[in-house]
Amino acid sequence: MAQADIALIGLAVMGQNLVLNMNDHGFVVCAYNRTVSKVDQFLANEAKGTKVIGAHSLEEMVSKLKKPRRIMMLVKAGQAVDDFINNLVPYLEPGDIIIDGGNSEYRDSTRRCRELKAKNILFVGSGVSGGEDGARYGPSLMPGGDKQAWPHIKDIFQSIAAKVENEPCCDWVGEEGAGHFVKMVHNGIEYGDMQLICEAYHLMKDILGIDQDEMAKAFEEWNKTELDSFLIEITADILKFKDTDGKHLLEKIQDTAGQKGTGKWTAISALDFGVPVTLIGEAVFARCLSSLKTERIEASKQLKGPKVNTFCGDKKAFLEDIRKALYASKIISYAQGFILFRQAAKEFGWNLNYGGIAMMWRGGCIIRSVFLGKIKEAFDRNPELQNLLLDNFFKSEMERCQESWRRVVSTGVQYGIPMPCFTTALSFYDGYRHEMLPANLIQAQRDYFGAHTYERLSNPGNFIHTNWTGHG
Ligand code: NAP
Repeated sequence: MAQADIALIGLAVMGQNLVLNMNDHGFVVCAYNRTVSKVDQFLANEAKGTKVIGAHSLEEMVSKLKKPRRIMMLVKAGQAVDDFINNLVPYLEPGDIIIDGGNSEYRDSTRRCRELKAKNILFVGSGVSGGEDGARYGPSLMPGGDKQAWPHIKDIFQSIAAKVENEPCCDWVGEEGAGHFVKMVHNGIEYGDMQLICEAYHLMKDILGIDQDEMAKAFEEWNKTELDSFLIEITADILKFKDTDGKHLLEKIQDTAGQKGTGKWTAISALDFGVPVTLIGEAVFARCLSSLKTERIEASKQLKGPKVNTFCGDKKAFLEDIRKALYASKIISYAQGFILFRQAAKEFGWNLNYGGIAMMWRGGCIIRSVFLGKIKEAFDRNPELQNLLLDNFFKSEMERCQESWRRVVSTGVQYGIPMPCFTTALSFYDGYRHEMLPANLIQAQRDYFGAHTYERLSNPGNFIHTNWTGHG
C-alpha cells in the first residue's frame, strides 16, 4: 500500500540521520540500502519505535510511495548514483522525482537532470551540509535541478532544514547542477575561512607571542562581533583544549592539512571561467604547501627569514588590527565566491537565487555565520548587485577596516609570516578598485613578441598592431 511520503536510499551516516530527521517532522520515510541487511538492522535499532518503514528491493520501495514519488539518494558520489538511477527508472512514472543529496560533481548533476528530463522524470541535485549532526537536527540544504520538482519537495526540505530566526536554511537554488555547484563553492569558501583563521592564529603566535589561552579569549571575544560564526567558536574551543598531560593538544598536532578535493574543484572552476577567486585558490595551495613537511624541515635549516626584533607595539591594538584584517579578507572571499556564481549563471543560463544562497548558509553548515545575513540584506537591497564590495554596507566596512588590514599585512611581511589569504585579499581589493592596471604593458609585450594586437584607450574595440622595433 502506498503510504510513504518519501524514500531514502543509502543508510550510511548521512542517510540514517536524514531519515530520522524527516520522521521527527512527521513524514513517513521508506528506507532502502544496497546491502539490504542494513535496512532490517536500521529498523530494529536506530529507527525502532518510529514511523519509518523499509523495503528489500527497489520495486517494493517504489510500490510503497505516494505519487508523485519522491526518492532521495545519499550514496557514494559517482557511479553508484548513476547505477541507482538506471535501476529505478523502469519502476517510475512521468512526474516522479529523484533527488541526489550526495557530494556529486555539478556537471554530473546537469547531465543527470537532462537525461531524466528526456524520460519525464524530475531530477534534483541537492547540496547537503552540516555532516552527521546537521543531517540529524537540521542541515543546510541547497536544492537545484528541475524546478517543477520544487513544489513537491519544498515542504519536506524546508521542514528538516536548519532554521535561523524561523527561516529555513533551504531554498530553491537554480537549474540543473546549480545546487551541487553552490555546495562546491560553499566548501571552497570553507577552505578560505579556515585558512584566514589559521593566518590570524599564526600572527598572534609568532608576532604577538601570546599563549593559547589568551588566544582562545580573543576568539571568544571576536565571536561576539561581526565575526560571530561556527568556525570562530570552535577555534576558541580548540585553542583551550588540553591533552591528558594538561598541555594544549593543538601544539602537538602535525601541521599538514588534508583535503578531499572540493576546494580544488572550486579553484579549477574559477580558472575555467576566468574569474579571480584568488582567496580560495590560495587556501588550497596553503594546504598543499603544508603537506611538504619533510621539505619544509630541510628548508627551515637553510633558508633565512628577516631579522626582526620582538614586537614592541601596542599588542591589544594589533590584535584588533588582526580581527579587522580577518573580517575584511573574509568579505573579499565571499565577494569572489559570488563573482563565481554570477559567471556560472551566465555560462549555463542559470537563474541563481543569490540572497537565498546566503540565507541557506546562515545555519546548519560549517560556514554558518551572522555575516551571511548581511550578504542576504545586500542582495535584498539590489538583486542585480554586480559585486558585494559595491554594496554601501560592505563598502563602508572595507573603509573602516582597511588601515588595520594594511598594517597587519605589512607587519606580517616584515616579520616573514606567510599570509597567503590576507595578502591575496588585499591585492584583490587594490586591483579591483584601480581604474588603471599595468595590463597595458602586458598588451604591449604580447603585441611586441606575438603581434597579438591591442586597443588604444581612445579607440576601444579597434585592435591594432605596432611594429615595435621599427624593423621590416
Ligand atoms: P558514504 O560512505 O559516502 O556512502 C555509503 C553509502 O553508499 C552506503 O549506503 C553504500 O551502500 C552506498 N554505496 C557505496 N557504493 C555503492 C555502489 N557502488 N552502489 C550502490 N550503493 C553504494 O556515506 P555518507 O558518509 O553517509 O555520505 C553519503 C553521501 O553524502 C556521499 O555522497 C557524501 O559525499 C555526502 N555527504 C557526506 C557528508 C558527511 O559528513 N559524511 C556530508 C555531506 C554530504 P552499502 O551499505 O551497500 O555499502
